[in-house]
Amino acid sequence: MVGGLRQFVERRVIGDSVPRLVRWGKSLPPTLISRMQVDAFRRVVLYAASRQKFFSRKLQQAGIRADRVRRPEDLGSIFTTPEDLLSFPAEDFLCDEPQAVFETTGTSGGPKRVAFSYEELDLAARYEAAAFYENGLRSGDRVVCTFDAGYWISSWVTFLACKQLGVFCSAVGKPHPQEVYDRIIRYRYNVIVADPTWLVSLSEIAEKRGILPVKLIFAAGDRMTNAYRDYVQRLWQAPVILGYGSTEMGGGAGMECRVRQGYHVDEFNLLFEIIDPNSEGYGELVMTTLARRTWPLIRYRVRDVTRFLEGPCPCGVSVRRIAPIRGRRDEMVVMGAGNMYPEIFEKVLEGVQGISENWQVAVRQEGLRDVLEFRLELTDGITAATVEREVQKNLESRYPDVWANQACGMYRLVFRFCPPQTLVHGRKRKRLVDEREE
Ligand SMILES: [Zn+2]
Repeated sequence: MVGGLRQFVERRVIGDSVPRLVRWGKSLPPTLISRMQVDAFRRVVLYAASRQKFFSRKLQQAGIRADRVRRPEDLGSIFTTPEDLLSFPAEDFLCDEPQAVFETTGTSGGPKRVAFSYEELDLAARYEAAAFYENGLRSGDRVVCTFDAGYWISSWVTFLACKQLGVFCSAVGKPHPQEVYDRIIRYRYNVIVADPTWLVSLSEIAEKRGILPVKLIFAAGDRMTNAYRDYVQRLWQAPVILGYGSTEMGGGAGMECRVRQGYHVDEFNLLFEIIDPNSEGYGELVMTTLARRTWPLIRYRVRDVTRFLEGPCPCGVSVRRIAPIRGRRDEMVVMGAGNMYPEIFEKVLEGVQGISENWQVAVRQEGLRDVLEFRLELTDGITAATVEREVQKNLESRYPDVWANQACGMYRLVFRFCPPQTLVHGRKRKRLVDEREE
């Protein structure tokens, strides 16, 4: 039964045209998808147990037999971490001859790498193609993709996704936005795929030199605040659709639909778990590659914090959704206010007039009590008292739990105002810092 189902699904997922795949995908009941995933999980576990040194060693240490493993939780505390990718040689992960290798920046210890076959890249691109199609990308459109190329995967997968849709695509690395602006008319680009900060720079150029007709904008690779998204959408009069992914996930792993509530994830290639969830279901995302055989990853700790969105999506797509990423697990600060993530403060400061984009929130200690300090740069001549009132109002209405903890003395809220350009951060801005002593 499972074998027949598998062949049927594989034929559709690999063989059909993307538009037919999208239509068919909508008719799949979630129970069937999860059965398919369980079957694919068992197969990749058996495969990696016999071919991957890293995973077979882990099984041996834990005394777990691969043929007894049915579901991710049967593996107990066996995971693959980003640190494992850094500290063990490629030979410990490779199960087959690779045809391509990609890197991803690590926070420390140099780049992590993952290898693929061409077929695996095509399969990853298929999901991205389906998500593009669902969002309205059609043949006749012209895409310019400015994701950083080099050893990064996303640009190549986007190119391959456009190829599957028969859509014109320039995947040109990450040039100065001016260079792309100058070519929008020449090459009749009407769809832009880029990272959020690059998009904002392009939009600033367009604001000065003139808006050109654009149908769709896809953004991924960095956090995009609602303020940035609104600005870009208003300016181009085009929807900005966000995607989520990484090199380890094989490029795009999730994309928004027209409902724009979280990302529909690629359940054909990846199995996601949320571990150590809190009462709201937020926990660390963990993924297993179901289809890859060159360098499979079993229960890879993504380190991003999110949750599953339950229930069917109004758009009709049946693959599951995850909520927008709350932050990295290592960015979480546990304090008197609760578990704090940078995203909380992005939301609290959203719409507050009179402050610059260069803000930071610090958690300090005063005696035995935690202090939550907003560091803000005043602009536009709006007074500190007005800003303070606005921020407090937002905190109270948007995060009542966090507010309540202050009211009952779990922490103290303070504000520090600085002149513009004094809170300038490095390339990777740290929005939330923990300055308490160990
Ligand atoms: Zn949807």
